[in-house]
Order: sequence, then C-alpha cells, then structure tokens
Amino acid sequence: MPRSTKIFKRLQQKAEKRRIPLNALFELTHRCNLRCSHCYVDNENHTELTTDGVKKALDILKDNGTFFVIFTGGEAMLRSDIYEILTYAKISGFVTTLFTSGTIIDGNNAERLIKTGTDDYEMSIYSDIPSDHDALTGVDGSFKRTMGAARLLKSLGAKVTLKTVWSKLNFARVKEMYALADKLGCELRGAPYISVTNSGDTAHLNTRCNDDELTELFSSMYELQKERIDETFNEVRSKEYDYETLKDKRICGACVTKLRIDPYGNIYPCVAFGNAMGNITEDDFKSVWSGDSFAKSFCELRVTDIKKCRDCDRFAFCRYCPADSLKECSDMLIPTDEMCRVAKAHRTAFYNTMKKI
Ligand code: SF4
Ligand code: SF4
Repeated sequence: MPRSTKIFKRLQQKAEKRRIPLNALFELTHRCNLRCSHCYVDNENHTELTTDGVKKALDILKDNGTFFVIFTGGEAMLRSDIYEILTYAKISGFVTTLFTSGTIIDGNNAERLIKTGTDDYEMSIYSDIPSDHDALTGVDGSFKRTMGAARLLKSLGAKVTLKTVWSKLNFARVKEMYALADKLGCELRGAPYISVTNSGDTAHLNTRCNDDELTELFSSMYELQKERIDETFNEVRSKEYDYETLKDKRICGACVTKLRIDPYGNIYPCVAFGNAMGNITEDDFKSVWSGDSFAKSFCELRVTDIKKCRDCDRFAFCRYCPADSLKECSDMLIPTDEMCRVAKAHRTAFYNTMKKI
C-alpha cells in the first residue's frame, strides 16, 4: 500500500491515537558483507533469534496491530532462513519490505525470493559512479552487484526502490542519480541526514554536506520536481500557519506507531533510539509497550514542547529527530545544529525555486 494514499494516512492517524505499533523494523542479523562508513549497526556477537523465534515475534507483532514489517540487517540475505521468514510474514498478512544491498541476489536465488511475495525491495546506492559507491561500502564491485540485483528483480516483476544518503560524495550528482533510477524503473528516495550512530560514532559526520552544498542539493531536487512545487508550497503554508494546532501532535512515531526489533529480540522505540524496552520473545509485549518508563514519558511530549522551534521560519522545512537531539545535545527537546542547518538550506532552496517560476 503506497504510503501517500488516503487509506494509509487514516490508518496511521488511528494507530497514532491508539498507540498501535503499526510499523515494525525487524533487524534479522547484524552480520553484513559490506563495510559502509556511515553504518549505524553495532556488530555485537550474540545469538540471533532462531527461525521459530522470528516467527513467534511476528505472531506477537500481528496480535498487537503491526501491519507493515521492514526486514533489514546487517544484510538480511545472509540468513539462510530468509525465504522462510519472508514467506511466513506474507502468509501472516503483513505488508513486507526487504532492505538489502542486493549484493547476494543473483540468478541463483532471485526467483526463490520473488516467490516469498515480498511487497517491496529497497536498496541503497550512494553514487551513480561505481568507484564512489564502492569506496563508501568498502567493497569493490558492490555497485555492479546492487545494480544487477535491482535489474533482475525488476525483470521478474518486483517493486524495487532505491535509497540514498545525500552527502559530500553525491550532492552534485542529483540529476544523474535520478536518471539512473529512472532507467531502472525505480523510485529514488533520499535524505541528507547523517547522524551519530547509536554507539556514539562520529567519524562519518565529515561526509555531511556544507551549507552551500546542501542548498545546491535541495535546489537540484526542486529543479527536477518543479511539477511538485505547488503541492510542496501548500504543505509549507499549512505548516507555517498552523503551529498552534501542533500542541496535540506528538514529536514523531517512535514507540507510538513504530518500533524496532534487533536480531536478539530486543524491542526499541525506533531505528534511532538505542534504549531497549524489553524483549519480544522473553517478556510480555503488552506490559513492555504500555509499561516502559521511557516510552510513557516520550508519549507525553508534544511538538510544542520544543521551545526553540516556536516562531522558527524554517519549521515547515524541518525534520526534527528527538533521538538525534538526545545523542548530540543530551536532551530530546533541544534541536541539533545539524537539523537547523539542513532546514535552513532547504528553505533557501525552496524560495529560490519559487522566485524563478
Ligand atoms: S524522528 Fe528520529 S526518533 Fe523519531 S521515529 Fe524517526 S528516527 Fe526515530
Ligand atoms: S530549524 Fe531548528 S529551531 Fe527551526 S524548527 Fe527546525 S529544529 Fe526547530
């Protein structure tokens, strides 16, 4: 179900009101065959959930209202039971997505994967220039393998979405990246947010675009999507003038409509919060979901509690992440410099484009 549809939005609103974990991100393994420099995954060496453990977790999620499950890793395709898990999830009625680098998908296993009925495959590309992509993943030939997998899955009728992290490496390649996605018949999604990892690593932050690069990036994207400018303008206007209505709005979906399960069964508020609330196969899910003290206090927070954002002219262009604030400012209600910087560049690019048309 496309996330832009009315029915999806209604489902989200209902889930938000009743605090139903509609969206689960399920990390099946932290093992990986790539070495991406920005990777947030901590390579602990614990015993992963067994096939039955994963199925049990899926049953619990289903009983508690989860509808969308994204399977990820590490590299989820490294699990030999991946086909069984994906098939079980579909039979259970979930809408499923597999995040994969595609580097171990080829003619030997693609058809088997298609038979699982997985709704969407999402693959990351970091540049349209193979050597730049490979430099970031740390593995020569990974670009060629990812592209090969995307092409193969598309030829077998699968939906494939390409994702990117916009950075110093690719901010000047917007046109080429969208052209590459077009050629494959895939949507390209991307964002320029490069965060501190859950274990506190910051080395990769030097790949963040500087202010001018960010403005160039957003301008190039608007340039390519001029037909969407009216829609964006309406969204911006409604956000600019409706700040007061946000006093009832939660900051984001973490531990409200979203959760993350790690390969060992631990439950987290979302991909970016590192505090485990309990374990899905060992604890009673309902008690964890409603009783965790962090979740309880987080759910009380509203957008209007972020004092610095009041009257901010960048508000409509901002993506506020309380987990990033916690990691960088030790306070969920203090915006990071990075959020404000990206929002400023986005606003500048938007109004520059508006002036031109
Ligand atoms: S905005 Fe940040 S904290 Fe909220 S759900 Fe997204 S990643 Fe998690
Ligand atoms: S730009 Fe900064 S101050 Fe403005 S809304 Fe975003 S986080 Fe808040």
